[in-house]
Amino acid sequence: MVKIKTPEEIEIMRESALIVSKTLGLIAKEIKPGVTTLQLDKIAEEFIRDNAGIPGFLGLYDFPNTLCMSPNQQVVHGIPNNKPLENGEIISVDCGVLKNGYYGDHAYTFEVGEVAPETKKLLDITKQSLYVGIREFKAGNRVGDVGFAIQQFCEAEGYGVVRELVGHGLGKKMHEGPEMPNYGKRGRGKKFVEGMVVAIEPMINLGTRKIVQHSDGWTITTLDNKPSAHFEHDVAIVNGKPQLLSTFDYIYEALGIKSNEEDEFRAASN
Ligand code: MG
Ligand code: MG
Repeated sequence: MVKIKTPEEIEIMRESALIVSKTLGLIAKEIKPGVTTLQLDKIAEEFIRDNAGIPGFLGLYDFPNTLCMSPNQQVVHGIPNNKPLENGEIISVDCGVLKNGYYGDHAYTFEVGEVAPETKKLLDITKQSLYVGIREFKAGNRVGDVGFAIQQFCEAEGYGVVRELVGHGLGKKMHEGPEMPNYGKRGRGKKFVEGMVVAIEPMINLGTRKIVQHSDGWTITTLDNKPSAHFEHDVAIVNGKPQLLSTFDYIYEALGIKSNEEDEFRAASN
């Protein structure tokens, strides 16, 4: 079900999204060869609780941890473990926070040490596709416009666009309507209106779009074991236009990256 948010609710959600953003910034500083995903998970949980938040994934559908940590060919929903990260790997980190009754939920794929050029390009294109999709999330457009834009952009590079997993509405529940596929047809699906809040999250594979669900009930990998990338933002429609509630600013600050990619989607007061 789609729940339209009031401006007051959107401000509350901005706070939840901000804690997720800061958590990912903190994790960005710690990601290096030798660190384990379980260590990073502990850091995230502690930071979220210190900021009066509740880890949004912990216990959700019985997920056992705070962060979904999906290395290399894992697409999403990876469970943190004791295996040290290695140079040349990538790690998708997805984080959710519940605060004041509303969820924040976003994700970033990080490089561990020095990563192969073709993998770097996958990360770059997937992140660009996120903004290509967000640009279509405006009053009067439809769900299919976002999916179409992301799909076209990524398939033009020969990448596989995952079908089985999608973005979603966000609010008092982690997963509300509408579903936000990363593929689709222009002009199809639910119409966007003022006050909608969604998580847009392209999951893009270097090779085939096909995936495998593993027997632990969580881990999902690419069928060809080539890398997969995942970037996610929380976005509201304000004054008819897409406005970011989440930000990668804290990640970029940690990594020393300069970027103006979010400027067109910032709140006027920022
Ligand atoms: Mg997420
Ligand atoms: Mg999500």
